Amino acid sequence: MEENNIETQAVHGGEQRFKYGNSITNPIFQASTYVFKDTEELCSYMEGTLPREEYGRYGNPTLDVVESKLAHLDGGEEAFLFSSGMNAICTTLFALLENGSHMIITNNSYRRTRQFIMEILSKFGIEYSLVDPDHEAIEKAIRPNTKLIISESPTNPYLRVLDLVKFVAVAKKHHVISMIDSTLSSPYNQRPLDYGVDLVTHSATKYLGGHNDLLAGVIVGNKSPIMDEIKLYRGILGGILDANTSYLLIRGLKTFALRLKQQNKNGLALAKHLEAHPKIVRVHYPGLESHPDYIIAKEQLRGFGGLVSFEIDGDLKKTSQFIDQVKIPSIAPSLGGVESLIEQVCLVSYYDQTTEQRRELGIKENLVRYAVGIENVKDLIDDIDQALRKI
Ligand code: PLP
Repeated sequence: MEENNIETQAVHGGEQRFKYGNSITNPIFQASTYVFKDTEELCSYMEGTLPREEYGRYGNPTLDVVESKLAHLDGGEEAFLFSSGMNAICTTLFALLENGSHMIITNNSYRRTRQFIMEILSKFGIEYSLVDPDHEAIEKAIRPNTKLIISESPTNPYLRVLDLVKFVAVAKKHHVISMIDSTLSSPYNQRPLDYGVDLVTHSATKYLGGHNDLLAGVIVGNKSPIMDEIKLYRGILGGILDANTSYLLIRGLKTFALRLKQQNKNGLALAKHLEAHPKIVRVHYPGLESHPDYIIAKEQLRGFGGLVSFEIDGDLKKTSQFIDQVKIPSIAPSLGGVESLIEQVCLVSYYDQTTEQRRELGIKENLVRYAVGIENVKDLIDDIDQALRKI
């Protein structure tokens, strides 16, 4: 399967050709524990000579299939699934950092990830630096006790794109673990492991699941003591994905490549249309020449994704009026599903912050985040135009 294209990998990757009961689909193993024939079998398993399931907090045959599929898609040797994207990130950082170590996180990243690092890990004596998503800023922040660098790419909501070649060079030079939250690109648009990144994480809730109907997170990497440690911590902290959701994720992944192709197309068309609209002051989309990372995005991304951020010519209130007029996307957080979603970033992710605090965080009150689905792009554009005419 390794040599196949991503469309084929999405359907067949990680799957046994002949499955239980001759079924074309994977059974959902609704089991909390797994039985041993006798003590000899138990001892072989404990010795590591017999790979099999033991207990539901450590693994499940339905989960194994989707983990293997995700490892194939991202070009890694193994993948571990968690009950949410946040659980994947939190468990991994707990596993790899200790009191007195230092890590670097780039700003312009998911608020809860930053909160976990800045408010929770710091209580355990883990130091952090928050820097721009740029390899030079990252290198400047490195200290003798730096153990890990994590960045999203593209970032959220301004879609900054890291130069992964330079990012990996910095991490390797300083012997630091490199980790990319690749949620916004998905393995269709970029595979950070191909660049030498150590760990990739996704909120599988987004493009991988793709139907706005599940929560999941994944860590993908090559076999290593680091990956062993993450698996051990998942088994202790207990954030593993359940069998039913694993099945939904397999189902969603079958159409992954088709969806991403359409979302890339819709995202680019929408971004170009918005950029030419007189009521829009700025569009943030890495597929536009006006984006600061356009050149690197063109070089390192297969497509520019389905997230388009843009600024309305107006204030907070006028922006809300626009959002209330659109008819196709629903007002909701999240992205990557088949249904388009829209949000005014300052109200969905930063409601509790004052205008001044939002300004300091770089969150403009006229900023709209549009997560395109797989609808017909002309319908999405006509819908936006009618909403803009009303403000
Ligand atoms: N990483 C990114 C880039 C995200 O956007 C999100 C959620 O929005 C997460 C991680 C967390 O994922 P989850 O909501 O599945 O816990």
